[in-house]
Order: sequence, then C-alpha cells, then structure tokens
Amino acid sequence: MIIVLVGAPGAGKGTHGKRIAAKRHLPHVSSGDLLREAVGSGTPLGRQAERYMKAGVLVPDKIMLLWVEKLLDMPEYEAGIVLDGFPRTVPQAEGLDEILAKRDLGVDRALFFDIEEAAAVRRLAKRVSCTNCGLVYNLDAKPPETPGECDRCGGTLDVRADDREATVHARFVEFRGSTKPMIEYYRSQGKLIRIDTTGSIAEVGKRVTAAIDLLDGLEPPESAAG
Ligand code: AMP
Repeated sequence: MIIVLVGAPGAGKGTHGKRIAAKRHLPHVSSGDLLREAVGSGTPLGRQAERYMKAGVLVPDKIMLLWVEKLLDMPEYEAGIVLDGFPRTVPQAEGLDEILAKRDLGVDRALFFDIEEAAAVRRLAKRVSCTNCGLVYNLDAKPPETPGECDRCGGTLDVRADDREATVHARFVEFRGSTKPMIEYYRSQGKLIRIDTTGSIAEVGKRVTAAIDLLDGLEPPESAAG
C-alpha cells in the first residue's frame, strides 16, 4: 500500500504519519528528515538542497524525483510506504505516478492534514529540537526533563531555523502556490482524505484512526474524516 501525507508545515504529518505507518506495518519516510540528514552529512543531495531549505522554498522537482526513484528501488519499500512530505507539487505527483506505474503500482490514498497558518505558527513555535542529535520535543505535549536540554544527549534545544515565523510564512506561500493544486490532483482521482487538525494530538489521532480504518476496504474516501 502506498500512502502519501500532505499538509502545510506544523499540520502534524510527522506525528500522525509515524502512527499510521506503525498501524499499517509500513515504513515511514519523511522527505524533510532525509533532506536534513543529507544536508547534515554533506552528501551531494544535501549540498544541492541546502540553500532551498534554508530559504523555506521547495527543492526543485527534478532533484526530488531522482531521489524518490532511487528510494523506491530499495527492497525495504517493496511492500509499501508511507511517504511524508513527498510529493509536494503537481509535477512531483505526476512523476511519482510514472515511477510507480513502471512497477505496476500506484498511490492508494493521499491524507491531507489541513491547518490554518496562524495555528501552524503557534504550534511550530513550541516545537524544539536538539542541535546535537536532532531529537524533537514539543514544549506542551513532550517537554524535556530539564528545560533547554536534550534528555538523550544533553545538547542544546532550539527552534528549527525554518520553523521561525518568517520562514513558516514563506513555507505557507509555497504550500498555497505549489502544494494546494496537488491536493486537487488527488481529489480529482478520488484518493484524497482530508483530516481536520484542530484540537489536541489525541483528538486529531482519533480522526486519523477513522481515516486509516477507511483504508481497509479502500472504499471511495469522500466521507472525509474531518
Ligand atoms: P518538511 O520537514 O517536510 O517541512 O521539509 C523541510 C524542507 O525540505 C522544505 O521546506 C523543503 O525545502 C524541503 N522539502 C521536503 N520535502 C520536499 C519535497 N517533496 N519537494 C521539495 N522540497 C522538499
């Protein structure tokens, strides 16, 4: 089964995506996490992606499509995948369909985590990560034991550079311009499930569970879970 997770920054794709993947026994792959790792270790992909990520704009489609093609060739993703943050544009969605079609596969469902910009800005200001090991905390839901210090390695905690308000705004502009049309692409194929992300993690979690249950019968998803 191939599930793609779509949503603006701060919508909760990562948090809920991992739960969906665990429930469906599928690997969870976040394009943003893999790109950050690539930047951190200075791989050719990381060197190409770094300046776009710092500016809060999308890495070009061509680079992302080469990345996903290589990824999907790996044996661990043969049985399926939860793709978090990819695709993000219509050309990426079309490119993904072509890559999958060569393997007699297709996207089964696109889960759209819907959030308003003001709510995302408030949420992302609470998300801090360790500047040393990258572990992510939420100052409300999962605070560190000692404020400002990583429980795992003692490193300093800080808001991610691209989670600061000005860059979040730039990422929203990208989302509206490039990703919203892709949502229509999946809606027109009858593959979209919209998740309302207002409320607590537990409340959203219940809606996500309802959406995952819809996957079992792979019924037409128009009765959105939110
Ligand atoms: P995320 O953690 O998913 O918000 O991604 C962080 C940054 O990585 C984005 O602001 C983009 O610069 C880049 N990125 C992640 N996924 C993609 C993608 N599918 N296409 C282009 N850029 C991406």
